[in-house]
Amino acid sequence: MEPKLCNPQNTIQLIKKYDFIFQKKYGQNFLIDTRVLDKIIAAAEITKDDMVLEIGPGIGTMTQYLAEAARQVIAVEIDANLIPILKETLQDYSNVVLLHNDILKVDITELARQYNQGRPIKVVANLPYYITTPIIMGLFEKEVPVDNITVMVQKEVADRMQTGPGSKDYGALSLAVQYYAKPYLVANVPQNCFLPRPSVGSAVIRLTRYTAPPVQVKDTALMFRIIRASFNQRRKTLLNGLSNSPELDFSKEQIAAAIEALKLPAAVRGETLTLNQFAQLADTLS
Ligand code: SAM
Repeated sequence: MEPKLCNPQNTIQLIKKYDFIFQKKYGQNFLIDTRVLDKIIAAAEITKDDMVLEIGPGIGTMTQYLAEAARQVIAVEIDANLIPILKETLQDYSNVVLLHNDILKVDITELARQYNQGRPIKVVANLPYYITTPIIMGLFEKEVPVDNITVMVQKEVADRMQTGPGSKDYGALSLAVQYYAKPYLVANVPQNCFLPRPSVGSAVIRLTRYTAPPVQVKDTALMFRIIRASFNQRRKTLLNGLSNSPELDFSKEQIAAAIEALKLPAAVRGETLTLNQFAQLADTLS
């Protein structure tokens, strides 16, 4: 069976047929470029053994591709007006389960248990950009069993996820993502690949979940509090950033001693530290 949807004519026809109105609040920009879809499917490395979770199937364009590649697809869509459209576009695919729900309210671990015997799943999505961070961090922090997450995000967010110290994009999101997963930039995607065109550039990024984190740290929550405090006041030194933070309870002397123990200059800025150095700092302070 050939995927049928992914071109502007079919998409417009379907939208007209159902009098569908795009909802900005749901971040609705539908993909209309087959080359981008092919890249996403290839990067996700989906096999006939896999269960794939698709977040926000829209009118089902990517869902059709996923259904052809995977054993089981679970698609979660929030917009009630898209459900009748999806029922039509996915009617030939018996391996797709459509759930009408807010992804942030779905117990994804339970879905993996129900449809994949608790084994790691793959997550693929052209994400609604307004909730990119809560979706991704939710998957990591709730320890949902995932192999990889291959998603379209805002270009700027993809840059932040994959960059290291020394770049202006480096920040708390970079470190949070890189603690849990190995990022790989699959492709930059121009605005004309979507209907309607988004106002920002987009990129596809794959995050391959580590089975064990790349650094060892005694108190992960403390490390992330330190990271947030370091980047909250980017222009301040690490010492001032950490001692001014309401999230932390260390004296200026304790922080200065920890920085010195790491053999870092007293006026070092947080944005120059690697994940490993943040882990060491957390261990020293704890
Ligand atoms: N996958 C489709 C495509 O590529 O053409 C649509 C992608 S569009 C960028 C984002 C989709 O996510 C929309 O269908 C939107 O309604 C849906 N969505 C937005 N917020 C959601 C939420 N909280 N839970 C589930 N789906 C959501």
